[in-house]
Amino acid sequence: MRTQSPDTTEQASLAQAQLAAIVDASDDAIISQTLTGAIVSWNSGAERIYGYPSDAMVGRSISVLVPPGMPDVMPEVLHRMQQGERLERYDTIHATRDGVFIDVSITVSPVRDPSGKVIGAATIARNVTQRQAVARALHETQEKYRTIFENAREGIFYVTSDGQTVAANPALVRLLGYDSVEEFMSDPGHLLGSWMTNHSHELWSRLEGGQGVHDFEMEGHRRDGTKIWVSATMVAVQDAAGSPVTYQGTVLDITGQKGSEASLRRETDEAGRANRAKTEFLSRMSHELRTPLTAILGFGQLLQMGRLNPVQQTESVDNILKAGRHLLRLINESVDIAGIEEGRMAFSLEPVRIGDVVQDAMDLIGPAAEQRGIEINVFPAHADCYLTADRQRLVQVFLNLLSNAVKYNSEHGSITLSCGESKDRGNLTVLVADTGPGIAPELRDRIFMPFERLGAERSGVEGTGLGLALSLQLVQAMGGTIALESEMGTGSTFSVTLPIVDGPVAQLGEISGCGPAPDDAGSAYPPCTVLYIEDNLANLEVMELVLAYRPGVKLISAMQGRLGFDLAKEHQPDLVLLDMRLADISGRQVLARLQSDPTTVDIPVVILSAEAMPGDVDSLLKAGARAYLTKPFQMEVILELMEELLGGPS
Ligand code: ADP
Repeated sequence: MRTQSPDTTEQASLAQAQLAAIVDASDDAIISQTLTGAIVSWNSGAERIYGYPSDAMVGRSISVLVPPGMPDVMPEVLHRMQQGERLERYDTIHATRDGVFIDVSITVSPVRDPSGKVIGAATIARNVTQRQAVARALHETQEKYRTIFENAREGIFYVTSDGQTVAANPALVRLLGYDSVEEFMSDPGHLLGSWMTNHSHELWSRLEGGQGVHDFEMEGHRRDGTKIWVSATMVAVQDAAGSPVTYQGTVLDITGQKGSEASLRRETDEAGRANRAKTEFLSRMSHELRTPLTAILGFGQLLQMGRLNPVQQTESVDNILKAGRHLLRLINESVDIAGIEEGRMAFSLEPVRIGDVVQDAMDLIGPAAEQRGIEINVFPAHADCYLTADRQRLVQVFLNLLSNAVKYNSEHGSITLSCGESKDRGNLTVLVADTGPGIAPELRDRIFMPFERLGAERSGVEGTGLGLALSLQLVQAMGGTIALESEMGTGSTFSVTLPIVDGPVAQLGEISGCGPAPDDAGSAYPPCTVLYIEDNLANLEVMELVLAYRPGVKLISAMQGRLGFDLAKEHQPDLVLLDMRLADISGRQVLARLQSDPTTVDIPVVILSAEAMPGDVDSLLKAGARAYLTKPFQMEVILELMEELLGGPS
């Protein structure tokens, strides 16, 4: 038998005392048990954790710590330990003396006798309730963030510093046009990295500088190549050493917002341009009005002083009249332009025979052309073609073009008026060509602008600079276009293009689908006289055709208002058909005259007009008209009305 020296015994008891002290000082419960589970020792750590004193627990089974209803694994653990199995740590729940459930982490180790035989077990139970609570809270938080990540409206992503995507949420992949996160992540060409590269310089320098980026707007492409604008917010996620490892960010699709910003900018630009144009127009206009007014006031004052000789007086009066006429033209044309721009000018659009329009304009320009020795050649092809236009306004356009062709032509030059069907089928182009000096290419853009005289103001040729601006507005308002071609030294050609329509006679046929006019003989209509006051020949022709269906009617016509009134007085017709737009006075004025004259007041008047302005009908009926019919004519309506006003067959 081996004996221990006193030194060795001392050392052994010291080691034992130290071990006992460590066991006692431990925060963990250190419990020794027999192989049947009976507790042999219970340290103060166990007392603190479970609340039971040592003497209450020694001799009892450790199983008393297992809450009721929960499985007790200790017997199984002890059994396996005896089989020599190496035991892992396991987590379970124990109940304290106060009935509180605590999370414990258990480690069971075999206790052996000097021969190595397992004679008992040492169990260490660590109270991990707090740690578990933290882990649970962490898990819950992670779940919460995962829900946000999955359901956020913003795209959320993590990328490495070289642009590789580590994670992307569904909103991000949808935004970039992918069907699923998997599809996005498995596409090597997905676009986050390339976006970053495109905008890399500013983005990376800000990120690497340690600042996050906020609302950084960048443009990229979706999977299908369409453009997308996003607003990105990104921060660097750093490792323990403080160097950025990934970048975490959110992106919001702002393509729509960018679009509306752009259109708002466009609208503001347009409004600004329109405002500037208006201001420029007004300042030019006031300048243009001041010039003739200065002349009027100047010559007027000279006359007032009474020191002018008779010749000077005549000259002054001539100058005043000339300036006055110029002023009137300026005002009329400006008012017309403003009227068209604001949609106040009424257009009476009807089929207009181009031959008549050209003839009217030629009649008016003839004397001025003759005065300058300028010859006008007209090629009458297409003269019978009908265009949709307001006749008077179209005459005004051609008068402007012809007047310019006379004014800016060379002495004894010539003007050629011709027509051709335009390239766009269904349109007719009328060309006014002169043999003047031509218009320099750099001036052509400005020629249709109000008050632009392109230097003509220094040439002594009279003008307002409004004629072409007004012509352009008029033609456009009638649905047409106006263009210029010019060759320096050869001449200029202005062309007006308008839609072709069927003539009124053809239209009447289409509308009514009537058979041939009845024969005069055998009809029992009372004979009557109808006066038609209308300046459009084509309409007169149509009326003649219509009235052929009512035998016994004698049709007389007048193309001017004053003449119409005189004819009414003279012939005492049974009915007056009255157009609203006449060359001298308006149809409304003719009606007023007819109504105020006792010899004509009882003659029924029917208004025929292409322009049915709201309020017109009522006011004309109040002014004495019996009926108001709009063009194009409807034959049955006219015939019915005549029957009502003049009586039917007897
Ligand atoms: P106005 O004749 O009253 O000055 P317009 O608006 O009719 O005004 O024409 C604007 C300017 O265009 C004219 O002042 C003139 O310089 C130029 N212009 C117009 N028509 C012709 C033309 N047929 N040949 C040369 N220059 C022309």
